[in-house]
Amino acid sequence: MTDTVFGKIIRGEIPCNKVYEDEKVLAFLDINPLAEGHVLVVPKEAAETLDLLSDESAAAIGRVLPRLCRAVVAATGVKEYNVLENNGQGAHQAVPHVHFHIIPKPNSREGLGIGWPARGLEREAAASLARRIAGAIA
Ligand code: AMP
Repeated sequence: MTDTVFGKIIRGEIPCNKVYEDEKVLAFLDINPLAEGHVLVVPKEAAETLDLLSDESAAAIGRVLPRLCRAVVAATGVKEYNVLENNGQGAHQAVPHVHFHIIPKPNSREGLGIGWPARGLEREAAASLARRIAGAIA
């Protein structure tokens, strides 16, 4: 696991605009927001991608995420928002330390823009794929 800018923020080596902290989680304003109120929610555990995160840190994030979403909505007055978590460079992850974005969507110009290249699902292939995924859950 390489050291990252979020590791430095968690250790207090570089500053951030903190909005929340507990034993396992830190949340702060994104330095280049897509909209006012864009917050990053970061586990203190230095996992690169979500699949590598411990159940304990995942639970700590899950416990606080809805509360932080409510706070962002209350503070910005913007009711609509996206929660985004990128894993891997090809999936737009720039900082290799797990982080959830809370991104207010005030209008069609600001906030997250999403490409959604949906396609069809073939019945038998879907059933087989669902079985493979279910069987891979550790
Ligand atoms: P991602 O593409 O999901 O890895 O997102 C990384 C995010 O981290 C981007 O939205 C950046 O603007 C944000 N970011 C990078 N450095 C900092 C920093 N020092 N403080 C706050 N946010 C940062």
